[in-house]
Amino acid sequence: MEQVITFAELDDFVFCPLSLFYHSMYKDRAKWNYQTTDQTAGTSAHKSVDEQKLTTRKNIIQSLTVYSEKYHLMGKIDTFDSREYHLIERKRKIKTIYDGYVFQVYGQYFALIEMGYIVEKISFYSISDHKFYPVKLPHEDPDMLKKFERTLEHIRNFSFLDFKQGNINKCNNCIYSPLCSQEESC
Ligand code: SF4
Repeated sequence: MEQVITFAELDDFVFCPLSLFYHSMYKDRAKWNYQTTDQTAGTSAHKSVDEQKLTTRKNIIQSLTVYSEKYHLMGKIDTFDSREYHLIERKRKIKTIYDGYVFQVYGQYFALIEMGYIVEKISFYSISDHKFYPVKLPHEDPDMLKKFERTLEHIRNFSFLDFKQGNINKCNNCIYSPLCSQEESC
């Protein structure tokens, strides 16, 4: 049976495959043990969604656990407006739309479609400066869709033993750097 991957793991893997390992290892521990201030703030930004407190409007679906059978991906959607057919992923402050972000919302998109929802728009919303960043739907961006599918294949065939992170900037911005043996050798 195909390995099930969570949306968060997909984003972690794109940032650094080893961070996926640390994510799995520490997910049951209190996050304050290793999260940076930025990441703690990001978690707080999602808290209202996770607690389903953002709105009581019936067309707004939040924090719904979804699963894509096609891609064996699972996780929670952030916000879906079923009247506007609009899937929205909120982040505390968006500076760059990383591929990992896009792959996460693709996972959400495919799961919603499989569940029978209509999704016509995908956007990121940067909470601190109130900006929306539209994302093309997967069929409108075949190159990104290929990258998404190749990344899933890569995760499923990945060997941690052969991996070496060569980008010191990633290590400098990584919440797992205090725990990671590779950080010093970057
Ligand atoms: S410290 Fe560097 S090698 Fe280790 S998980 Fe983070 S980015 Fe990857």
